[in-house]
Amino acid sequence: MESKLAERMKRVGFSPTLKISAKAKAMQAEGIDVIDLSVGEPDFPTPRHIREAATRAMEAGFTKYTAAEGLIQLRRAIARKLKDENGLKYDPSTEIIVSCGAKASLYHLLLATVNKDEEVIVPSPYWVSYPEMIGLAKGIPVYVPTREQNGFRLTAKELKAAVSASTKAVILNNPCNPTGTAYTRNQLLEVCEAAAEEDLLIIADEIYEKLVYDGLQFVSVAALSPALKARTVVVNGMSKAYSMTGWRIGYAAGPADIIGAMGRLQSHTTSNATTVAQMAAIEALEGPQDEISRMREEFLRRRNAMHARLMTIPGISCHRAEGAFYLFPNVTKYYDMECDGTPIRNSYGLAYHLLRHAHVAVVPGDSFGSPNHIRLSYATSYDRVVEAVDRIAAAIAKLRPARAVKQKALQNTVTKVKGTVETDAGITVSTRDAMVAEADEFLKKEPYFEWNANIAGLIVQLRTNSPHLYDFYVENFFPSPLESDIEPHGILYGVNWIPGKDVKAWYNSETRTGFLMKSAWYGQLRSLALGLATDVGERIHDLHGVRAMVAEVGGRGLMLLGPEGTGKTGHLVELLNRADGKLVSTDYVFVRHSGGDVLADTPERKFYVSTDMAEKLPLLEPLFDRSKCENVATSKEECENHSCPHAEACPLERGEPYCFLASPASRAMLDPYWIGGNGKHVKRTALKAAVLLRRDPIAKDVEKLDAETAARYVEEGRDHLGRSMPFLNPHLLVRSLERTELQRRNYQRLFKRVPCYAVNVARLTVKEVHKAILKAVGL
Ligand code: PMP
Repeated sequence: MESKLAERMKRVGFSPTLKISAKAKAMQAEGIDVIDLSVGEPDFPTPRHIREAATRAMEAGFTKYTAAEGLIQLRRAIARKLKDENGLKYDPSTEIIVSCGAKASLYHLLLATVNKDEEVIVPSPYWVSYPEMIGLAKGIPVYVPTREQNGFRLTAKELKAAVSASTKAVILNNPCNPTGTAYTRNQLLEVCEAAAEEDLLIIADEIYEKLVYDGLQFVSVAALSPALKARTVVVNGMSKAYSMTGWRIGYAAGPADIIGAMGRLQSHTTSNATTVAQMAAIEALEGPQDEISRMREEFLRRRNAMHARLMTIPGISCHRAEGAFYLFPNVTKYYDMECDGTPIRNSYGLAYHLLRHAHVAVVPGDSFGSPNHIRLSYATSYDRVVEAVDRIAAAIAKLRPARAVKQKALQNTVTKVKGTVETDAGITVSTRDAMVAEADEFLKKEPYFEWNANIAGLIVQLRTNSPHLYDFYVENFFPSPLESDIEPHGILYGVNWIPGKDVKAWYNSETRTGFLMKSAWYGQLRSLALGLATDVGERIHDLHGVRAMVAEVGGRGLMLLGPEGTGKTGHLVELLNRADGKLVSTDYVFVRHSGGDVLADTPERKFYVSTDMAEKLPLLEPLFDRSKCENVATSKEECENHSCPHAEACPLERGEPYCFLASPASRAMLDPYWIGGNGKHVKRTALKAAVLLRRDPIAKDVEKLDAETAARYVEEGRDHLGRSMPFLNPHLLVRSLERTELQRRNYQRLFKRVPCYAVNVARLTVKEVHKAILKAVGL
C-alpha cells in the first residue's frame, strides 16, 4: 500500500504554483506583507448575476445528477457561444461535453485519445499539468522549445521537426500560460496546417480566449478551416473569462466519436459537473457580458504597468505578452550573482530571493520547462502590481556579482524508469532466441553500442542502443582483453524502447543471456551483469558471488553482511574513517579459495553508489560533483525526500543546482581511488572475519555463529520486518533448488574458514556495534 503510494507520488509532481502560494500564505500568516504574483486565477469576484442564478437554481431544486456530459441546456448555450463568437457549428447533443473544469476535459480527452507510448507534442514553456496528464494517460510528452525572440510562438518548422511515427497529438494553448503569448490568425494557421500535414489531433486549450490585448483578434483553431475543425478538440471553460475558477465548469467541443468516448470515461470518474454550477454557467454565457470587457481593460492596464516597470530593471528582458494575465521575464542576467553570500543559480534561487527580500511570490520558470524565466501574474490589484515590481527591482538591485562562483555542472543523466522492474529469470531457450532475434533486428536501426566487460574474469558483453547504459557499463567494469580474441561468457541486451514491449527484465541461464527492456536505469543492468557473472561463476569456476560490503582494517579483510536497515553503510564509513581502513567494495565481491586464503575481489572498477552516502561521508560530496551521475535531482519538484533533515534550508530552493539527498534513485559512479588515493582502496583482500548485522530484540548482543547457522541466517536473509531476501543477495538470478543448495554450500565453506559474528544492532549502541566489529577482526 505504502509503496504503491510512493510510486504514484514519484510519478506525479505536485503543482508548483500551489507550493509557492502555500509558502506565501505561511509568511502572510506570520504577519509578513507578501504580494502573491504566483496566482493562476482572476482576482475579480464572480459577477453578481451569475451568483444569483446559482442561488435561484438551488432554490428551484437543481441539486441532483444531470447527464454525465452536462445539462443539455448548458451544452446548447455553449453551442450558441461557439457559433456566435467563434463561427463554429457543433451539435450540442453529440459534440460538446461539460466537465469539472477545463482540466477534467483535457484529462479525459488525453485518456480517450492517447494510447500507451504515443507521443504528444507540448510546446515549451508549457502549462504544468500537460506533462502530468499525458503521463497519467501513459503517453509521452515531447517538448518543443519555443524561442523568446519569436514571442514564444511555435512555428510550423519546429512542430514538424518534433513529429515521429508515434506522434498522436499536439497541444496548442492560445493564449498561453505561462508566457501570455497569443497567436494571430496567420500564425495559428501556419502551425495548424503543419499539424494537419502530419495527421495530428490538435488539442486547442483556449481557456484564456477572452483575455487578449492590443487589438489582437482571437481565432479558435477549429475556425481556421472545416478540415482543421475535424481534427481539433477545442477546450475552454468559465474559470478565467467569468472569474469562476472555483465553480469547476469547463467544456470540450469536437468530433462526436472523441466527445462520446470522453463522456463514457467521465461517467465513471466525476459524472456530471456540479449541477448548480452548470446552471450558473448558463447565466454566464447568456447573461450580460460587459464584466468581461471591464476585466480585460483592467488586466491590460496592469500588464502595461508591470511590463513598463520590468523593462526599467537592468538586464531583464520580457516579451510583451498579448494575452492571459502573466508576464514571463528572462532573468538569466542575475544567475550566478549573490546576496549576502547566498548565490542565485537558477529560477528557483531567484524566486526564493524575491520571496525573502522583496516579499513577492513568483513561480520559477523551471516548473514550466523554462529555466531562464520566472512567471509573474498580474491577477492582483493595479497598486499591488506596481508595488510588487518596485519591490522586485529593489531586491534585484541588492544582487552583486558573486566573488567566486563555483561552477557546478554535473554530468547527470535522468532516466525515465527510476528503479528495478520485474525480472523473469525463468524464460526458455526458444523464448530467449525469439527475443534475441527481435532485439537484434531493432538494434540494427538504432545507434548501437557493444562492450565486453571483465567481471571477475568472466566476459559479459553488453549490446545496447542506450548511450547512458553503455556509458555507465564502460565506466563501472574493467574492460576485457582484446575483443577479437575472446568470446563472451554471457550477453546482456539493454534495449531502450521497443514499442509495445513491457518495461521488464528477463534472463535465461542456459544460454547466459539477459534482457533489460525499456529501462535505462543503470542499477538494474549492473544487477543483471553481477547476477550473470555469479550464475556462470558458481557453475563453472568455483567462484562465489557475495552481496556484502567489504573493507580492510589494519591489513585484515572484513565482510559486513546484513539486511537493509541495519546501518551497514554507517559502519563501513566508520571503518574507512580510520587511518588503517581501506575500502574493497560497497556492495559485491567474488570470493575465491586460494591456498590457505579466502580472497574477496571487487569486480568493479568504479562503484555505483547511492548519492545520499554524502550525508554520512561528507568528503564524498565533492567527489560526486565530478563523477558521472544518474537521476540526481536538479529541482525542488523532483525532491522525494519527505524526511529530509535540511528541509528548512533546502539547497534546491536556495538556488543550488542539484541535491544528492533528494531522490532515492540518484547514483554516482564513484572512483574508489578518489577517496584517498592508493592508500584507501584495495581490489582484493584476504578475509579474516565476517560480521552479520541483525536487528533482533531478543538475540544475544554478540554471538559467534558456527558455519551452518551463519549460512542459514544468510540464506533466510530476513530483515526485522520479517521480509526475506534469500542470501541477502538481490542480484541472484537463478533460484532453483539445485542452485540454492550450491549457494548454501558456498556460504558454509566460506564461514568454515572465515569466522562469522552476529552483532545485534537492536540492542547495542552504534559505538558498541563498531567496537564489536573491530573485535571480530581482532582489533
Ligand atoms: N489550461 C490552462 C492553460 C490553464 O492555465 C488552466 C488553469 N490554470 C486550465 C487549463 C484549467 O482551467 P479550469 O479551471 O477550467 O480547470
